[in-house]
Order: sequence, then C-alpha cells, then structure tokens
Amino acid sequence: MDTILSLAKRRGFVFQSSEIYGGLNGCWDFGPLGVELLRNLKEQWWRAMTLRDDVEGLDAAILMHPRTWEASGHVEQFADPMIDNRTSKARYRADTLIEEFIDRLRSKGKTADADALSEKLRTASSPDDYYRIIVEANIPDPVSGTRDWTPVRYFNLMFTTHVGPIQDSSSIVYLRPETAQGIFVNFRNVLDSSRRKLPFGIAQIGKAFRNEINTKYFLYRTREFEQMEMQYFVPPGKEQEYFDYWLEQRYKWFLSLGMSREVLRIVPHEKLAHYATAAVDIEFKFPFGWGEIEGVHSRTDYDLRRHQEYSGKRLEYTDPFTGEKYIPYVIETSVGATRSLMAFLCHAYTEEDAPTADGGREKRTVLRFHPLLAPVKIAVLPLVNKEGMPERARAIYRDLLRRWKAQYDDSGAIGRRYRRQDEIGTPYCVTIDGQTLDDGTVTVRERDSMMQERIPTERLVEYFSAKLSPNEDA
Ligand code: ATP
Repeated sequence: MDTILSLAKRRGFVFQSSEIYGGLNGCWDFGPLGVELLRNLKEQWWRAMTLRDDVEGLDAAILMHPRTWEASGHVEQFADPMIDNRTSKARYRADTLIEEFIDRLRSKGKTADADALSEKLRTASSPDDYYRIIVEANIPDPVSGTRDWTPVRYFNLMFTTHVGPIQDSSSIVYLRPETAQGIFVNFRNVLDSSRRKLPFGIAQIGKAFRNEINTKYFLYRTREFEQMEMQYFVPPGKEQEYFDYWLEQRYKWFLSLGMSREVLRIVPHEKLAHYATAAVDIEFKFPFGWGEIEGVHSRTDYDLRRHQEYSGKRLEYTDPFTGEKYIPYVIETSVGATRSLMAFLCHAYTEEDAPTADGGREKRTVLRFHPLLAPVKIAVLPLVNKEGMPERARAIYRDLLRRWKAQYDDSGAIGRRYRRQDEIGTPYCVTIDGQTLDDGTVTVRERDSMMQERIPTERLVEYFSAKLSPNEDA
C-alpha cells in the first residue's frame, strides 16, 4: 500500500488535500493523472449504465431539503456507536474497538474467548449492548491501557451546514451522505418528463460526504468521496429477477475493465435491513484485505414510500396496461468512484523483472490499466533529439493529441522513457527513429507485452481508434 501511495503522489495521481497546510484528514486531491483516471472511470460507468434503453441520467444538488434525510432515516440512524476513553481522550468506534480486541485474543490463541465475544458482537445493536461487551470483556484502551470508559453514544456521520445568514436549527442543511436520495426525490420528475414505463432506472454520479470517524487506507474511507449510483424501479414481484440481473451486470463491469475473478468476490449481507429483500457487496482484494467496493440492494418500496409519507406527494405509478397503482420496488447499485479507483490502481500495480536494452535485467514497475482507464493513452518519443526527428515527432504528437490524451517526452535514454510511461500505465508508446525519416513508419510499443510493431504514420489514427474505442460489452 505504501509503495502505491508514494507512486500515486510522485507521479501526480493523488495528493493530500491542502498539503502545504499539513493536510486535512480524510480528504484527497486528484492530480493531473488522477483526474484523468477518475474521469475515465466515471465515463465508463456512465456509458455502461446510460447508453441503454431503460436508464436515464440525473445530476441532483448536493444540498437538499432537510426533510429528505428525515424520510431516508439518516437523521435518526446514520450514526456509528462511539466510546471515549477519559484518560487518553481517544475516541473509538465501539464495534471496531471490540473487533480489534477479538483479533488480539485470536493472535494469542484464545479462540474460545474470541468466538464467544464475536457472537455477542454479532447480536449487539444498542449503545448499551456495546458498552456491556466492552466492560464485561475488560477491554483496555489501546492508547492508555486504562478502562476508564464513557458510555457508548451514537455519533451522526452527516456533515451539517447552514443556508442563509442565520445559523439556527431552522437553517440546518446536510451535505448529502449518498447520492441515492437525489434520485428518489426526483422519481416523479424523471418519470413524467421522460414518459418512462417500468422497469426503468435513474443513474447519477456525484460527491458525497460522511464525517467518518476512522478514515482509513488512502482513498478507501474518506470524508469526501464520489459515488456512482443507480436506482432501478420495477413492479413489485419482479425484484429478485432484476436484483440477479443487476448484480451480474455490475460484476461483469469490473471484469470488462480488466479486473480478474481472483480479486473479486460477492458477499451477501449478514444482517438485512428490515425493508430489504436482498443485499450483497462486491468486494475487492486490497493489499490490506477484502473490502467492499459496490453494494447491490433490493430495497422494496421503502424509500419511495417514506418520501411519499414525508412530502405528502403521491409517488405511485399507474400501470398503463392494467391501470393498477403501486409504489415501485427498487434495485440499487451503489459504487464508490474514488474507492473503486483505488481498487483499479491497486489491481494495476505490478513489479516485474524485465530485460534491458543492453541485455541486462531490471525491475519494471507497470500500472496495467485497461486502455480505456489509462490516464495517458499514448506517449510520443523521438529516439534522438536531432536529425529532424523532433519535428516529425511533434507533428505526430499534435495530431494524436487532438483525439487522445498524449504525452511528448524527449529527455533521457529511450529505455528510461519507456519505464516512465510504464509506471503511469500508458498503454502505447510511439517512437520516431531513423527509419521514420526514410519510409514514414514509426514503432508502436505495447505496454504489457513490450512488443513493438512498425506502423505507417498515416495509419496511426486508425490504429489507435481501433485499440482505444469503448468496449462494446463494458
Ligand atoms: P463501508 O465499507 O465504508 O462501511 P458502506 O457500507 O457505508 O461502506 P454504502 O453506504 O453502501 O457503503 O456506500 C456505497 C459505496 O460508496 C461503497 O461501496 C463505497 O464504494 C462507497 N463509499 C461509502 N463510504 C465511503 C467513504 N467514506 N469513502 C469512500 N467511499 C465510500
């Protein structure tokens, strides 16, 4: 993880937010390469989700009417159980504190104790349950070693701010903790304006904010992040069919962008929300272990019904054939753009032993991004900085740059320049050499195989159009 993080910073993928001031915990900035990667990822999702007959797009405001979050249950329930240690003043998520204690028991071979505690944790739901477990198991503060605990309290993860000049409780609004509610509250608008019939979906990409207690693992859990969510509205009774369909679609999407089955797994939720009929996580094998990257949920009519109740506006659908009225059921697919970017980055990262030009061996660091995700598609490299090669190379570069993100690099030995491009995942390098001046051909080097082929300059656009065109089955 540290190696990937330092590469990400050194090559301009991701920087700490406001780093010159010491940074802001849980927030990251995407640098020149990171922003390209992020945009490519979002573009691939947008294409896969909306270039189809049954899904419309949406871009809702981050700030919403506060009643939205009462209806959605976030004001009351979107909270983590927290406990403070009076001596160290450290604050912990109560469930995490217990889990880490269980891990320590296991590492000491106290399996029976660990199992018993795990079972208690699994059934805990109230602050008192967590508190009782911590006290009964005699769990110490990892920092101070004392057991000087406050009671467990819930801490809401929504950021608040105020609209208008007066800062009182009537002016409170929330930074949305998910994009989904923007879709639910617009269900009627989209349905009426696009004259849709069920089943159909609404897709949205946007920022979300959560005041996470433990920001962790780089982009994995941050306070500001981006989500790509889709709500698919179906007639009641059809939810299982569409749940299965969308789970398969979403799993295949990761495969279509280069992930392998070994790093993905589908994990059903242990505890279903009372309104849900099915819920699974798609998990990715990060360097620190398995972690959720996407959730696929069957949420019944819960969300629309709650919004109908809280807003007083009818959110029913009338079946055009039978005249039957009902509130649609919803299948939700919810993936973090920034968290899955990190998964794609980790998956792409490889170190290998590669031959050098002079017959030796060296370590080669390669980001094996799918070409559609790669931040830079093509690098243009004049073999030497003389004999008319730079002029030819510049002309080719300008031509390619009109269509694709390309880089021009003329500094250092050609092998070094290839390595620099490998390290940022550029799938193709075009080299202009002596032969180019004779017959107009250039070499195109492919990143993963390092194979080179000669292509006439005038065919380059056609060549790359075929290589870099969107994946039909993505
Ligand atoms: P977590 O794994 O953090 O407990 P969650 O179950 O709260 O996530 P959801 O509410 O289902 O996550 O959000 C859907 C998706 O949004 C997640 O799969 C993840 O990709 C992304 N996501 C959620 N919280 C964060 C965060 N704090 N930072 C980055 N991405 C996040």
